[in-house]
Amino acid sequence: MSKILVWLHSDLRLLDNPALYHAAQQGEVIPIYVLNDRTPGDYSLGGAQKWWLHQAIKSLAASFSKYGINLILARGRSSETIARTAQELGVSAVYSNKVYEPHLIREAELLETSLQGLGIEFKKFHSYLLFEQEKVRNNSGSFFKVFTPFWRHCLNTLAQPQIPLPLPKFIKSSGSYKSDTLTDWKLLPLKPNWAGGLEARWAISEDAAHNSLYDFIENKLNGYALGRDFPATNSCSYLSPYLHFGMISPGQVWYEVTRAGHTKNINTERFLAELGWREFSYHTLCNFPQLPQKPYRAEFENFPWDYNSEHLSAWQRGETGIPIVDAGMRELWQTGFMHNRIRMIVASFLTKNLLIHWKKGAEWFWDTLVDADLANNSANWQWVAGSGTDASPYFRIFNPVLQGEKFDPDGAYVKKYVPELVEVSPRFIHKPWKLEKGVILQYYPKPIVDLKVTRDVALQAYKKMKKSLNAT
Ligand SMILES: Cc1cc2nc3c(=O)[nH]c(=O)nc-3n(C[C@H](O)[C@H](O)[C@H](O)COP(=O)(O)OP(=O)(O)OC[C@H]3O[C@@H](n4cnc5c(N)ncnc54)[C@H](O)[C@@H]3O)c2cc1C
Repeated sequence: MSKILVWLHSDLRLLDNPALYHAAQQGEVIPIYVLNDRTPGDYSLGGAQKWWLHQAIKSLAASFSKYGINLILARGRSSETIARTAQELGVSAVYSNKVYEPHLIREAELLETSLQGLGIEFKKFHSYLLFEQEKVRNNSGSFFKVFTPFWRHCLNTLAQPQIPLPLPKFIKSSGSYKSDTLTDWKLLPLKPNWAGGLEARWAISEDAAHNSLYDFIENKLNGYALGRDFPATNSCSYLSPYLHFGMISPGQVWYEVTRAGHTKNINTERFLAELGWREFSYHTLCNFPQLPQKPYRAEFENFPWDYNSEHLSAWQRGETGIPIVDAGMRELWQTGFMHNRIRMIVASFLTKNLLIHWKKGAEWFWDTLVDADLANNSANWQWVAGSGTDASPYFRIFNPVLQGEKFDPDGAYVKKYVPELVEVSPRFIHKPWKLEKGVILQYYPKPIVDLKVTRDVALQAYKKMKKSLNAT
């Protein structure tokens, strides 16, 4: 009977996993996960991602063991480790779902060459995205730079997303294979253990991913289009980390949501369009692989960024004196997550009011978000900074006070994460520095910058960049 080695990476699930499903139809499945964190030039995992990965692998290994299958854990360069293991175990083929991050694409290419040399078949399946990126091209044969035509094209021109696959029919492992133990990898923080808030917030398993989806469909989908912008109302799906690690597939989400809602319903359409933004981030990364390092709009290479380490540190700690920004940054630190509207506000504050480079913000998010994702993080930071594809015009600078008053009108979100302000009335909750004379906030800082002055400085910086461009 043939043995197939299945390389798992961003697809940590049993259901709707094409590589696993098709391998199981051929014979014995030997799943392997490689921690590839020591290759120079690679993106090493952030702290919150490591914490999540530990739980995700633990849960996946337990799921496999119910079917008598051992998940092999190995550390090293993916291409070399998998080729070596394939040869040692005498497998007939290696199956994998397609990868999209530049360093993983490189590993997959190297692996393909090594396996060819060994006479072992390498098969790749489509699974991480709804639509096959290779097929997404505009009328002039190039990639899309604007979201709306991109999404219209995906919906109207491409084949529907794949119908989710059922659980594979596994055959028990014929032997026990050499593997690291998860604790060898030391993915969890020890001293200090900063993950208490994350443990309280998240359940991490394939079942938990589906429970989040069902909870969203039953209780939130109906009010999503409006509610999604209000951080205190808990109206979003919170599926992003599960999607990032592939504990649920976008196809599973797509079909459950379209079955429950109605395709022409505004809430369903809006939610599917958010999945569309995920596709668009990957579409951009595939076609502009420098996205994490370089501005898509080249003129931003000359942007006069500033750097003030005290400002950066106040932003990271949630001590800027701007309540909605501080609430967001503290939510991030405590739970490993931040609401989308608040991500936009804190990113605008960092890049425009503090004039700190978007890469500094993206790095902090990378280390602290449980859903930290190379495509989504880079594309969204560039979007806010004005340097990305389909970016918001630079001069549209978010005013965090007005944003707070609009999307957190009674201050419930701010009060949850900034307890120093719990007694402040809704009138002043987003601008406590304007409290009547005599009321002094003992424990909450004054704003580190003046919002109006820094807005004007940002606009001047933008003009300066434009001028230097015209002069060249
Ligand atoms: C500065 C900044 C950085 C970001 N970094 C990341 C990141 O590292 N990883 C990440 O997954 N998302 C990132 N986002 C996008 C977005 O904030 C999160 O995907 C969303 O908040 C996740 O919450 P949810 O699952 O409840 O979303 P929902 O509103 O329930 O949306 C459903 C799904 O759609 C996708 N989605 C929603 N909004 C976006 C978006 N703007 N761009 C791309 N996909 C989207 C996500 O996969 C999400 O799980 C970032 C946004 C900003 C402004």
